[in-house]
Amino acid sequence: MDLFEYQGKQYFARYGIAVSPGGVADTVDEALAVAERVGYPVVVKAQVKVGGRGKAGGVKLAADADEVRTHAGTILGLDIKGHVVRRLWVERASDIAREYYASFTLDRPNKVHLGMLSAQGGVEIETVAQEDPDAIAMLSIDPVRGLDLATARRWVAEAGLDEEARAQAAELLVKLYECYTKGDCDLTEINPLILTAAGTVHALDAKVTLDENASYRHPEWEEFRATETEDPRERRAKEKGLNYIGLDGDVGIIANGAGLAMSTLDVVNQVGGTAANFLDIGGGANADVMAAALELINSDPKVKVIFVNVFGGITRVDEVATGVLEALGRVTITSPIVLRLDGTNAVEGRAILAPHLSDTLITEPTMLDAARRAVAIANA
Ligand code: GDP
Ligand code: MN
Repeated sequence: MDLFEYQGKQYFARYGIAVSPGGVADTVDEALAVAERVGYPVVVKAQVKVGGRGKAGGVKLAADADEVRTHAGTILGLDIKGHVVRRLWVERASDIAREYYASFTLDRPNKVHLGMLSAQGGVEIETVAQEDPDAIAMLSIDPVRGLDLATARRWVAEAGLDEEARAQAAELLVKLYECYTKGDCDLTEINPLILTAAGTVHALDAKVTLDENASYRHPEWEEFRATETEDPRERRAKEKGLNYIGLDGDVGIIANGAGLAMSTLDVVNQVGGTAANFLDIGGGANADVMAAALELINSDPKVKVIFVNVFGGITRVDEVATGVLEALGRVTITSPIVLRLDGTNAVEGRAILAPHLSDTLITEPTMLDAARRAVAIANA
């Protein structure tokens, strides 16, 4: 689960990481009240779970009440990369001398934690990685040994942080590592981590991803979950009891079994397509489940074609074929459907479908053929 910046900063604060004083605001008046409380100048910041808010006009400095009104009014309702701003974070503005970058995440292949630190912060780290990879000091951390202050001190020197920032930055990084490990995060990122003109180091931004596998030991995460903005498709799927994850492509996927569903995504990708979703309809691919699945995928405006990939095991293909026909009798599906049905009673299943095949109800004998057909339709 990704946190909003203000929640990330609250999380940081629990581990003693310095952040600017501020508060959330859902209206212009609330923004003004926070500004009056923390003192001018302030920064008015869009709270959306997407990066690059600054560039998109979602981060503005305000010197007085009038400017807070103007900026809060413009930023509320702003669309940043498809995320509409409903909440602001208003904090005391910092006088920035230098901007750095710091993060911890998991290096899965090497089974260690990975720290990244750079004296070039405030810009996208992907850009730094591309243009000047040596500007990022990578630190592999053995999860059993952890990160001690002595290592953090060497690290900040290696990254070329300014002398006067080093001692504070090293201490902050140890705390950030604590937050990342004890706080059960998949990612903690500060961009920018700043050195102020007055010589103090603190976090100006916060990107935190919580590891949901650890949610059983964090009842306090409930407050974060309450503000989670769910994909409307995923909400509908949940209501229907379907195992669905929304993606960005245009090939709708229905498969039985999580493994087959994932392979289907891979094959669609391999032949040049993009999946609109992951959907595992499980073992009982009967008419009810199939109708619910088809209806859900069909309601996704991005979907141009639906790829049904079912391998009959305990579920027999003739039952699936009957289920598909029954479902099509009940719900109106606007996108063409490409089916790949194989496994137990595949011949009987295909025979059931044969009289109903058309330009919009197509079968292919293999998964690869079906993927190619579906992608060709989507890309037409
Ligand atoms: P992002 O664009 O979504 O990463 O949002 P950030 O919170 O990182 O803010 C973007 C940029 O706004 C930062 O890199 C800073 O340059 C600037 N900014 C944010 N807060 C302040 C502040 O308190 N004072 C000043 N002078 N600039 C700020
Ligand atoms: Mn940032």
